[in-house]
This record gives sequence, C-alpha cells and structure tokens, in this order.
Amino acid sequence: MALEGAGDTSLLLGSEDVPPVHEYNPAARSPFLLTSDHYGRLIPPVLGDLGVAASELTRHIAWDIGIAGVADALSQHLDAHLIAQRYSRLVIDCNRPPGAPSSIPRISEATTIPGNEGLARDAAEVRRQQIFDPYHQRIRDVIDRRLRENMATVLVSLHSFTPVYAGIRRPWHIGTLYHRDTRLPPLLLKLLRAEADLVVGDNEPYAVSDETDYTIPVHGEARGLMNSGIEIRQDLIADPAGQRQWADRLTRIFAEIETTLRAQGLLPG
Ligand SMILES: [Zn+2]
Repeated sequence: MALEGAGDTSLLLGSEDVPPVHEYNPAARSPFLLTSDHYGRLIPPVLGDLGVAASELTRHIAWDIGIAGVADALSQHLDAHLIAQRYSRLVIDCNRPPGAPSSIPRISEATTIPGNEGLARDAAEVRRQQIFDPYHQRIRDVIDRRLRENMATVLVSLHSFTPVYAGIRRPWHIGTLYHRDTRLPPLLLKLLRAEADLVVGDNEPYAVSDETDYTIPVHGEARGLMNSGIEIRQDLIADPAGQRQWADRLTRIFAEIETTLRAQGLLPG
C-alpha cells in the first residue's frame, strides 16, 4: 500500500491520466439528461491505493457497482446525454457538498481509508479542483447550453446500492431518490410500481437532502428542472446481462414518462 502522494497539494492528475469526466451521446436530443456521480473507481496514480486493500476497492464503498453499464446503455437507447465521473468516491464523493465529512471519507461502512486521514485542507482542495469541479462544471455548462437552446431538460441521476449494508438486507430492487420535485418522481414511482416483479423504494434506501447530496439539489432543484435519482440494487446489475435488462426496462419506462409529460404539457408537445 502506497501513501506517499496522499498529501500532495499541487498535482493530482497529469496530462497522461484519465480525465474525470466521461460523456456519452453529447449531441443527443432527448429531454433526459443523465448523470452518474459514482460511475468509476479510478484512483489518481499519485494517491496509490489510499492505503486500502485491493479487495475493498472493488466493493460498493469505492463506486456504484454495475451502474456504468446501465448508464451507457440507457444513454444509447434513449438518445440521451450522459455525464459521468470516473474517479472513486473514496477520492472525493461527487454527490456530497465539498467540506462535508462524507466528501472525502475517513471511514466508509466499516473500512477505514488511511489516505484520507488527517488530510490537509490544501490537499482536499486539490481533489475538489481536479475531480469534483470539472465534473460539476460540465453538468452546469451543459444545462446552460440546453436552456439557451430552449431544449427541455429533465435531470436523472443514476446510482446503485449495495444489497446488504452494515448487516441489514435491503428488500427493494429499485428506489427513487428525490426531494422537492413533485412532477417526475410520482410518475416514475407509479410506472415502476406497475412492474409486477419489482419491490420499489420510495426514497429508499436513501432520500435526498441539501446536506447529504449535491447533484440533485444543485443541478436539478436550484435550476428548476424536473428531476429524480434512481437507485438500482447492485446484485441485479452485477453482470452485463443484468445491466442490459435494466437498461431495457428503464428505456421503456422513460419513453412512457416522456409521452406522459408531453401530454401533461410539462414538456413541449
Ligand atoms: Zn451513487
């Protein structure tokens, strides 16, 4: 385990490193704008492995298992723009307000993250500037452009959750994740609940708040966009077949949502 670079305050990502922002279908015309805060689990080479065992770095604490495959396929099938973040949430969590204790966690579930222990403010700031900021600035810029072009925009934030957390088994297959929007979440819930084989969580296993979330409050609510998060249970999307099935199901559901929103006058006809 290597920790030499953890306190480095100047350079996190060099020109040869993978950029944090992943995009798919940037010229897409769908009203749905897809985001994925926990898409990847890369660690900047200068940070080594953050002092964490390799077996921990493939677990849910490092990323949203399975969501990348679902997000890419959904983006393709819906012809929707996807903006995703490739670095591990253990480096900096892109769905937490910077400065919150869970932004650069010192412990996640029951795993301590030595590379985040006693991190200097400057080092935390570098992680923000080089990973968090480019991702959220890109989302901001894309929403700005869409508004300028009078493109309808509905924000859908894609996540996955671990089937067992701290020893407690979770019954839901999928959950919605929302706070202030009263337009999209009820419609999404209704259509998910119409799927006979699904146990659907209503703000379960997580709810959204300004203190514990970033993408929905900042890019959805503060900008007046219809929005919802989705949480899919990770054992259902652990392999490519499961990811395809869920992308197909969500493609069908979001197509129906789009039709309904147009009929309700919430999207231009
Ligand atoms: Zn997530």
